[in-house]
Amino acid sequence: MLMGSCLCKDIEFQFPESVGDYVYCHCPSCRKASGAAFGANISVPIKTFEILKGKESLKVFESSPGKLRHFCNRCGSPLFTLVGTNPTFVRVRLGSLDSDFAQLPAAHIFMSQKATWDRPELDILSFDEWPAPDSVSIRGSHQPTE
Ligand SMILES: [Zn+2]
Ligand SMILES: [Zn+2]
Repeated sequence: MLMGSCLCKDIEFQFPESVGDYVYCHCPSCRKASGAAFGANISVPIKTFEILKGKESLKVFESSPGKLRHFCNRCGSPLFTLVGTNPTFVRVRLGSLDSDFAQLPAAHIFMSQKATWDRPELDILSFDEWPAPDSVSIRGSHQPTE
């Protein structure tokens, strides 16, 4: 199991280690939502995702219709996002992990919109916007090819 939590530790959750590809997304909304140069989120089957404590501390911001960004109402840490009314996956922010997670990202995406001060390492695939459909599959996202 991988364990995650917010900064103040009010909220803790876990999910199994088997995850698919994930990417570094350099688009402006990932930047805003994470407070960092890029977003790093992994798609976890919602049936396997378990909140261990702190459900009452979760607050939700609906950034666009049906896109529910969950964060801690005490420390403000962004934790995970649900997309749509009956989602199959929950998109978990890698920065919330307490467990060691050694899987490297599959690609950089939305590089055409990256911050001027963002200097990513280019030793992995890199795409101006969404990845080519046969190269990287981001489960549970709005990837238009899905
Ligand atoms: Zn917290
Ligand atoms: Zn993004």
